[in-house]
Amino acid sequence: MEVPCVRVEREAGEATRSALADADLIDDDYEITVEDGWLYIPVTDPDAASSEHAVVRRTVSERETQTTPADLLAFDPSYERLGEAALIDEDDDERARAIADAILESDLPVGTVLNKASKVKGETRVRDWDVLAGEDTEVVHREYGCEFALDLAAVYFSPRLATERHRVSEQVAAGERAFDMFAGVGPFVIPFAKRGAECVGVDVNETAIDYLRENARRNDVEDRVTAICADVREVAADYENWADRLVMNLPHSAGAFLESAVAIAGDDCVLHYYDIQHEDDPFGPGERAIREAAEPEYDVTVETRHTVRSYAPHELNVCLDVRLRR
Ligand code: SAM
Repeated sequence: MEVPCVRVEREAGEATRSALADADLIDDDYEITVEDGWLYIPVTDPDAASSEHAVVRRTVSERETQTTPADLLAFDPSYERLGEAALIDEDDDERARAIADAILESDLPVGTVLNKASKVKGETRVRDWDVLAGEDTEVVHREYGCEFALDLAAVYFSPRLATERHRVSEQVAAGERAFDMFAGVGPFVIPFAKRGAECVGVDVNETAIDYLRENARRNDVEDRVTAICADVREVAADYENWADRLVMNLPHSAGAFLESAVAIAGDDCVLHYYDIQHEDDPFGPGERAIREAAEPEYDVTVETRHTVRSYAPHELNVCLDVRLRR
């Protein structure tokens, strides 16, 4: 039967599927189909999907009925998938237990269910988890052809940022020097290195740096990745005038690290600066802070003002792509 489908390259499939699922746009009555390196994801509302994705009409099979968690509950629970784990966010213990049991009993290929037990907190931005099913909090997650091992109870990681990381990764050219000031387990560093960039990733969290090294090995890019466990302000002097590209994904606090960023920036450097601000002026505070830190030594040009996602009511998570030219 011919139905509207989002058409996407296979390697971008999981991230696109999860973005469409978040937006509740996947038409579960039909199978997702792979053909000639392309994935066809049936969608319920082609107009809504086409604002971000290519939509085509395509013949796909009707789906054989599979048992979903919603089939086993009196409601449709919300959960995220990360590798073999399902992540839920439930305050009510009884409801959390019921969702976990339904996820395990369903046909989802999930063996671990983790419930958020705190907000991300402290310098390392790690949160607490209740393990409702499975052995532990370590997972192996795949996005855009890269594989990441990580322990959610010991490092920061958000699968929701996959599309954003891909947007930035696509700008990376072979041979360039890229520096991630808050690298975590490497979701920017690894795809950058896969595109041929020489990468440095810094993080204060020793476990994150251990995983970054492991992930460099898993993805065969260890020769292009230097992983450093330190406060990035202490490393900046060793990389003065070094970077063609800088990533600063520490929203709320990145402004305090701009002096180090300017020190690490080379003569012509693109800075990806993440921020969380009120929707009335989401880009202004970041742009002013960058200009204050970099001018007049650098010409500052904002190349993209990009909204990544809504973070809280009236608050947006945004990214400024900024070119610094000395
Ligand atoms: N870039 C990764 C990602 O997108 O998944 C991690 C981003 S997470 C929001 C911020 C990271 O910055 C955490 O892993 C934390 O440990 C690290 N961090 C916080 N303060 C730091 C500092 N002063 N120097 C280096 N890393 C720091």
